[in-house]
Amino acid sequence: METPKKATPKFLVDKTKSGKNRNWKDKKIRAELTAKHFESAGLQSKAERMGDCANQLVFKQTDEGLKLYQAWFCKVRLCPMCNWRRSLKIAYQNKRIVETINQREKVNWLFLTLTVKNTDAESLPETIKAMFKGFNRLTNYKAFKTSIKGYFRALEVTRNRDPESESFGTYHPHFHVLLCVAPSYFTRNYIKQSEWTSLWQKAMRLDYTPIVHIQRVKPKEKLDDLPIYEEDLKKAIKEQKAILEVSKYPVKDTDVIQGNTVTRENVETVLALDNALAYKRLIGYGGLLKQVHKELDFEDPEEGDLINISEEDEISNGAFDVIARWHVGLKNYVIE
Ligand SMILES: [Zn+2]
Repeated sequence: METPKKATPKFLVDKTKSGKNRNWKDKKIRAELTAKHFESAGLQSKAERMGDCANQLVFKQTDEGLKLYQAWFCKVRLCPMCNWRRSLKIAYQNKRIVETINQREKVNWLFLTLTVKNTDAESLPETIKAMFKGFNRLTNYKAFKTSIKGYFRALEVTRNRDPESESFGTYHPHFHVLLCVAPSYFTRNYIKQSEWTSLWQKAMRLDYTPIVHIQRVKPKEKLDDLPIYEEDLKKAIKEQKAILEVSKYPVKDTDVIQGNTVTRENVETVLALDNALAYKRLIGYGGLLKQVHKELDFEDPEEGDLINISEEDEISNGAFDVIARWHVGLKNYVIE
């Protein structure tokens, strides 16, 4: 192991334009912990890749702070480091997509949650497969096509960790969907909650009534720091904040690994989710949102580059490098 050259090592501090800390260190610690679980689960090569994820970060020093320039990301589906990068990328892309659509036409935004009954680890892969098929059927129904202009959907799988609960240990796969509708949705093409439920039941060919939620995106209230803006614009910004809440990558590392130690329950979850989510597209766009995603020339945030999050990240070659290396012992990034 390397010893730092100076007696007091300098640690990485990376802040956004608005002063928010980009917490590389915590993500790396979570990635190391997740890698340990992969090792215990017998998934050696993924464990090794995840252990090496973002070991060295090369930034360019710019007037607006540090910009990531070179790094190696493991791209393992459950990696907390990679999923943080994916989340940032999706949030950025969705922000731009929603802005673009809102500028072009008058639309409204809705949140739809589609669920099925909880399932055990064994049937999770086939349940997820059926849900993708069901979602495709749903989007092809006449009612959907008439009322919905476009969507963003994300598959999330959580696990019931409550030992008191009847379904303790089971998995809960569900879709979070952001829907874009014309104002006429509320007058002419309205789909009631009970109709959404029966459409989803039909699409999934279920013999029970699934739980389905539909609601209008409610603008976030707490944004008083925007006095310079007009009321209309303020409302749009607040609405956008709310929209961004669904724009995260659906794999949360706290859903996969609970606590700070390797446990049997966590190892089980890693095995189940790694198996069920491998090679699956967890997020997707449709209709107008898909079209605008393409127009803006955005790449697939699940498979694409995790170094550049936005176009604004492109930097000139002149800027000088700041190199941060992960120090296993100090559990922090040390600046060379
Ligand atoms: Zn990674």
